[in-house]
Amino acid sequence: MRPSLLDPLFAETTCLPGVGPSVARLLEKLAGPRVADLCWHLPSGVIDRSYRPKIADAEPGRLATLAVEVEGHRPSGNRRQPYRIRCRDETGSIDLVFFHPKGDYLAKTFPVGARRLVSGKVESFGLALQMVHPDRVAEGTDGSGVAEREPVYPLLAGLAPRVVTKAVAAALRRLPELPEWQDRHLLARRGWRSWRESLQAAHAPHGEGDLSPEAPARLRLAYDELLASQLALALVRRQQRRVPGRALPGDDSLRRRLEAALPFALTGAQRRALAEIGGDMAAERRMVRLLQGDVGSGKTVVALFAMLAAVESGAQAALMAPTEILARQHHATLTGLLAPLGIEAALLTGREKGRTRSQILEGLADGRIGLVVGTHALFQDDVVFRDLGLTVIDEQHRFGVDQRLALAAKGRRPDLLAMTATPIPRTLLLVQYADMEVSRLDEKPAGRKPIETRVASTERLAEVVAAVGRALEAGGKVFWVCPLVEEKEESELAAAEARYRLLAKHFPGRVGLVHGRMRGEEKDRMTAAFADGPLDLLVATTVIEVGIDVPAANVMVIEQAERFGLAQLHQLRGRVGRGDRASTCLLLYQSPLSAVARERLQVIRDCDDGFRLAEEDLRLRGSGDTLGKKQSGMPAFRLAVLPEQAELLAVARDHVDLILTRNPELTGPEGEALRILLYLFERDAAVRPLGAG
Ligand code: ADP
Ligand code: MG
Repeated sequence: MRPSLLDPLFAETTCLPGVGPSVARLLEKLAGPRVADLCWHLPSGVIDRSYRPKIADAEPGRLATLAVEVEGHRPSGNRRQPYRIRCRDETGSIDLVFFHPKGDYLAKTFPVGARRLVSGKVESFGLALQMVHPDRVAEGTDGSGVAEREPVYPLLAGLAPRVVTKAVAAALRRLPELPEWQDRHLLARRGWRSWRESLQAAHAPHGEGDLSPEAPARLRLAYDELLASQLALALVRRQQRRVPGRALPGDDSLRRRLEAALPFALTGAQRRALAEIGGDMAAERRMVRLLQGDVGSGKTVVALFAMLAAVESGAQAALMAPTEILARQHHATLTGLLAPLGIEAALLTGREKGRTRSQILEGLADGRIGLVVGTHALFQDDVVFRDLGLTVIDEQHRFGVDQRLALAAKGRRPDLLAMTATPIPRTLLLVQYADMEVSRLDEKPAGRKPIETRVASTERLAEVVAAVGRALEAGGKVFWVCPLVEEKEESELAAAEARYRLLAKHFPGRVGLVHGRMRGEEKDRMTAAFADGPLDLLVATTVIEVGIDVPAANVMVIEQAERFGLAQLHQLRGRVGRGDRASTCLLLYQSPLSAVARERLQVIRDCDDGFRLAEEDLRLRGSGDTLGKKQSGMPAFRLAVLPEQAELLAVARDHVDLILTRNPELTGPEGEALRILLYLFERDAAVRPLGAG
């Protein structure tokens, strides 16, 4: 149960003064539904209203706060003329200017003779001074009515800055005093203040420096969040170790036959990974391992060996892919590899229905089916395994930590092997997969031809089409990728269709189109027609659709390449160069190109190392974008920014080690404070196995 101390933070924003349901809906879009979300919504700027001259000294063009006395009103004579209010102090006078004033607002706000504090930009108007629509008006002139500095918050269309500022200020007034969970020495060394003071300071910047990720208040808050995340992952990891798994040693019989039947020798990296996986599976504890390898590094074969180890031990193994197409592709691959062994793998996706489906369900339930490949459909409630020993998840980056935990809860805690082609920089590995062991396939199968990458402007489309024509003449196959951006699905789809029509005109009868709106069967038919049918050029709208293996494909054209992440581009590029032909990847960009975009395209052109690309991407774009936020499965940080604050990660990691050595069950006042921290950042799933404490 969440400590009641935190209740004010977890209340809905509608409990704040001035926040009704419609504002709350907008705030939810902007930051989140609860008071805490507003607290995490840190300012992106600061307005300095500390310049407080006498009227005669006020410099035109500057933001000034003036103490004035209202002298008289000059309402506008017609619609085009503004309403003017003459104000003065002992040194001179200035006009406040209002366009289209409403009702008697001005008369009420500025009665003649009243003293007011007004803040806004001073302008010269002929020889006179004026201030158009002051940003702030306060009664009296003692100066306290207008803050010297105001935070500026990131906004959303439809939300007035004032509304956000007021809501955040109201949220901050509800901050409870929380027990200190940080190490006192660390606080002293870094000069950090308490959580509450730091949060207040982060929302009250004095200048640009206070907005930087290096500002002490922001560092402290980021560190809190990183500590919560590292602690949660460490607890989950420990929990996974504690729960006894089962030993799946196998007798090597099937694996030996598979290796003998393979048309190639395993790479050293594949052997190393298999030894690590085999060791985990043979041991009594549960395996939770990530297999990380660049596209084409041969993860599928490794997965199959692991699956056979489960079957040899009398258990079942399931391979889950993120999409229908990938599941079918994997099924076809495994079927091919298993043929010499006389073993079959079943296929279960959302499309297996009726009798087929019920037969598969029966086979899984009674154990006749040992190996199954599928999509999420594999983990629906009515799918029962007789004895699932190993789950393999492909393209792990699509599944977040939460989903991993959910999967772990299913069945009798089968061993878990997750695979990802996304090269994850070490920093992120720590963030994202601290609950897993990692094996890396850092070696490509021999004999791969390098892919030549070229960068060109879309303006040269005609030349590109001609080059594609030559590749087709020479018997090649071509992927043509058009980006699909969610918000504009309609228009992007239209663009892809237009591209398809153009190419079909040039190469009649040889061009196909796949996009996300198509039904599964349609996509499959189209893909199959490209893989080994009459089509030689496949226009695709999304990354997912080309997650398929077509060894004959040797040209990849990517339009608006500047809109993809480097890692994504690298993955796409990895779809060609699988056969024995020389391959080309053409990155087309839309001019004009920003400096960063240009640098990114140069990096991908010159580098074929997925890991280095990931590091570069992180450097160039920051963690949010590296993997594409939605695809990354990254625990979303509200306060920490990577890589700017990555230094803190290692510190947090060591800190967690220390905590768990010294106080493994999180007891006493320190444990209590740390639990509150976990709840604060909603990492409390990790606390549950600890009990009430
Ligand atoms: P990925 O890691 O991208 O999933 P795959 O498992 O699809 O890679 O393997 C890519 C291709 O390389 C497949 O056609 C596979 O049969 C082949 N392959 C895998 N391992 C080796 C190897 N050791 N030597 C040669 N080819 C291999
Ligand atoms: Mg793969």
